[in-house]
Amino acid sequence: MASPYTTPGLVCSHHHLYSALARGMPAPPRTPHGFLEILELIWWRLDRALDLDLIRWSAMLGALECLEVGCTAVIDHHESPNATEGSLSVIADACAEVGVRASCAYGVTDRHGAEGARRGLAENERFLRSGGEGYVGIHAAFTCTDETLEAAAGLAADLGVGVHTHVAEGEADAAAAERLAALSRPDWLLIHGVHLPDDHQLRGTLVHNPRSNMNNAVGYARPARFEATGNPVALGTDGIGSDMLDEFRIAYVRLRESDVTASPETPWQWLSAGWDLMPGARNDTVTWNYAAMEPWHLAFSPGVRPERVEVAGEVVWADGQPTRVDAAEIRAKAAEAAQRLFRRLDELD
Ligand SMILES: [Zn+2]
Repeated sequence: MASPYTTPGLVCSHHHLYSALARGMPAPPRTPHGFLEILELIWWRLDRALDLDLIRWSAMLGALECLEVGCTAVIDHHESPNATEGSLSVIADACAEVGVRASCAYGVTDRHGAEGARRGLAENERFLRSGGEGYVGIHAAFTCTDETLEAAAGLAADLGVGVHTHVAEGEADAAAAERLAALSRPDWLLIHGVHLPDDHQLRGTLVHNPRSNMNNAVGYARPARFEATGNPVALGTDGIGSDMLDEFRIAYVRLRESDVTASPETPWQWLSAGWDLMPGARNDTVTWNYAAMEPWHLAFSPGVRPERVEVAGEVVWADGQPTRVDAAEIRAKAAEAAQRLFRRLDELD
């Protein structure tokens, strides 16, 4: 029997490693008043400012912060319209260097014209054909033409992988279910689903990101309802770190707020669904500083931390430090990169 102190490596089923440098960024030109303005004034400015060096240090820092909290596998969703080609390899290589499993996708969008969409598709194809692990990414249906959605779905089918896309996160994307239903397949990753109708026809795993949804005030996805439509539910952070025990606790209280009879076993099941998406993480072992690694304890126990993390049999975290990389150096380089990113943001219109 496994020790009560151990679990397999935790999986973050939806991440944006590029946001690791964004903390402390300059304030947007004005205060966003809703989800669309949060995208326009914050995230769609940040992604335009990224170059390959910034992407590398954000991924190195993000991967380091994964090990700190026992997360050994990340399903990342990336966009960098001014540094598209090669970006997925930069992220995958950074994760591999630190010792974290990664699945990568480039979020295709028509926000930067048909040529931008073409470049995004090409980056997904280049990365996956060169042996990279991942999905074909779509930003979200509401920023794509039907032609782009069909091209992304077709590419994924040709390559034998799923599509990783935001779905109905805000009201602006409420038409996503209708537009994607005929294209979707069981291997798709559907992120958020806040504004999906109960009888949506989408196939795939629904990934719930409760902290992000609250932070963006988009509403509650009510993920328990997706059992009725046959969609497994998994948990992600949407880029706000990689602390999956914390995300599990938030998923639990958010569920509990809407249903006082709910059990922490339900969000634990969502967390566990990550192992179906990143099966390699089942072979990883995290030894925690807490002897009751089960849902009824963890729902009420903040501050549980790993003492040792093994990925594919190799110790990658022990005694509060990564074993393969120098944490102080990564933090210093990432802090320098963040200052450069902030200067670039200040220079954008
Ligand atoms: Zn996201």
